[in-house]
Amino acid sequence: MNTAQSISTLAQDATLQGEAVPKTVQTNSSKANLLGMTRAELEAFFEQMGEKKFRAGQVMKWIHQFGVTDFADMTNISGKLREKLVNIAEVQAPEVVHRHYSKDGTRKWVFRVGEGEGSLVETVLIPADDKTGARKTLCISSQVGCALDCSFCSTGKQGFQRDLTPAEIIGQLWVANQSYMEDVPVGDRTRTVTNVVMMGMGEPLLNFDPVVASMSLMLDDFAYGMSKRRVTLSTSGVVPMIDKLAQTIDVALAISLHAPNDPLRNELVPINKKYPLEQLIAACQRYIAKDGNESSRKHITVEYVMLDGVNDKAEHAQQLLKLLKDLPSKINLIPFNPFPHAPYGRSSRNRIMAFQKTLSDAGFVCTIRQTRGDDIDAACGQLVGQVADRTRRAEKWKQKVASQHNEILRTQSD
Ligand code: SF4
Repeated sequence: MNTAQSISTLAQDATLQGEAVPKTVQTNSSKANLLGMTRAELEAFFEQMGEKKFRAGQVMKWIHQFGVTDFADMTNISGKLREKLVNIAEVQAPEVVHRHYSKDGTRKWVFRVGEGEGSLVETVLIPADDKTGARKTLCISSQVGCALDCSFCSTGKQGFQRDLTPAEIIGQLWVANQSYMEDVPVGDRTRTVTNVVMMGMGEPLLNFDPVVASMSLMLDDFAYGMSKRRVTLSTSGVVPMIDKLAQTIDVALAISLHAPNDPLRNELVPINKKYPLEQLIAACQRYIAKDGNESSRKHITVEYVMLDGVNDKAEHAQQLLKLLKDLPSKINLIPFNPFPHAPYGRSSRNRIMAFQKTLSDAGFVCTIRQTRGDDIDAACGQLVGQVADRTRRAEKWKQKVASQHNEILRTQSD
């Protein structure tokens, strides 16, 4: 079964309100997976085959814009080349094991990217809460788990498993787009996801090359053709890699700040012990300064999760004003989404509003993130935790049944 068939099978088998989706079939072939290849890589691939470079753009359009994975359907390519491709290449998206669509339009997928219960990543799509609903932002994961262990983060509690490949990263965008195109004829298909934030599971700057390759596909006109202002990388503050990013690709930058002083940030975002706030803010200033006239680099987005009684007091707002005074920034306050055994609670609405007012009165653009998709646990890492729990329970149950069965056989033979 090719991936397009797999996805349409998912459409038939899964209900919109989210039940476990039957496994898609994954091939363990040694064929080259074209899904994660950048234009330069694909051009080199075709040149090695003795073909012209422009084939790369043709195939990219089929894959990324029309969601076509079967080479036989790529009708502007000669039959002979299509046959060759079938033998040496494939287009393989990561395996969807669970999908969940919320009543408010939020969609979420859990992908299996390897063996074992820890090999799950999640992706969430959040539509804008405006009249048109046209803006659809996809939050993409870059690693399986995360090593940075931020104390308020469900993903951090799951530990680090491995980095995702470019195909597994861009595959999340491919699947999200595809979910709106299942019943649309190939010729009428258009891109649905309008914005991407690299803000899911993992620290994207610690999986640099695959993340950059994937973002270059997002920006490429032969793939997703997104504006550089609409592709945002969010980091917890890996300072040297912020500079490397600035030299490598032009995208918007967000930082997971969450605390306005070093002692508190050391507790909430432990990487702060290595790269304290002074270094982080200086790196952000350099990121803007390099190409200050570029629209993607006019400001930094600052994310600040609101933790009840921890970082949400008036004094914290004042410290934040001081910290950001020389950094062009937009601040996004995120009401905390508690998960089981989380050591924090969500700040009250009044507290969040007061915090916002302090920042807005000082001239900052400060928004409060809508809590969306609460019915599907849209906060990073939570759905994966649930799916893993269910897998573990199912495994335990199977073992229990097997051992009871063995016990019966043993009693009978006695
Ligand atoms: S907040 Fe981000 S960097 Fe921190 S543990 Fe979670 S996924 Fe990792």
